[in-house]
Amino acid sequence: MRKKIVAGNWKMNMDYTSGVSLFSEVINMVNDEVRGEQEVVVCPPFVHLHSLAQLANQNVKISIGAQNCHQAESGAYTGEVSSSMIQSVGAKYVILGHSERRQYFGETNELLAKKTDAVIKTGLLPIFCIGETLEERNNNIHFDVIKRQLTEGVFHLGAEDFAKVVLAYEPVWAIGTGVTASKEQAQEVHAYIRKQIEARYGDAVAENTTILYGGSCNPKNAPELFSQPDIDGGLIGGASLKSRDFTDIVKVFN
Ligand code: 13P
Repeated sequence: MRKKIVAGNWKMNMDYTSGVSLFSEVINMVNDEVRGEQEVVVCPPFVHLHSLAQLANQNVKISIGAQNCHQAESGAYTGEVSSSMIQSVGAKYVILGHSERRQYFGETNELLAKKTDAVIKTGLLPIFCIGETLEERNNNIHFDVIKRQLTEGVFHLGAEDFAKVVLAYEPVWAIGTGVTASKEQAQEVHAYIRKQIEARYGDAVAENTTILYGGSCNPKNAPELFSQPDIDGGLIGGASLKSRDFTDIVKVFN
């Protein structure tokens, strides 16, 4: 059985006090209400990582992740943060290749392959994001785009390392728009992704890979999305900033 995960991506939101208070609410709700085996991951801005990891310390259900990292271990890269620094404050995951990083910060598949290597080398787990723009979908090249993101971003890994990767399908047109992919659209792409994994690594690895859906996911649409055979949870943006909504999405797996 592959792992079910609901991960919150806070993006560039929450000052220190609001972040601690939101996360404390999430911990309480998860402790009181979450009964299943699903893992909850919260990915705040860097400045929160240490405190939230401390708060989550005793909680086996909740992990912390960063939203990005630099590909080098250390050095003269002013303003950057390395995966070993992230590891040293108690985080477990790093989101890589989010469409906002690709779009606004010019991150390419080639760079993301290096970041993936750095994350895995440090002993952290990448949550690697892929997904097409609206234009790419309208031109019916979304499968090609996704195949390329996989091939160039993560398929250079050996099977043992690839087994540490969590994938997140986030159609760019569904992110922050309130327009979610239909369950059929999402399932179709998730099944395609799993087929690509199978072709590269074989059946067993494909069956064990957790593939999350992200894009305007909320407590209303999460149940039908998460009930699809190839959707193993969600990467949640806006709704992860409200403890009630986020917990309700986690509870879909109860
Ligand atoms: P929204 O849930 O706000 O659409 O964001 C999704 C996302 O980008 C998560 O990484």
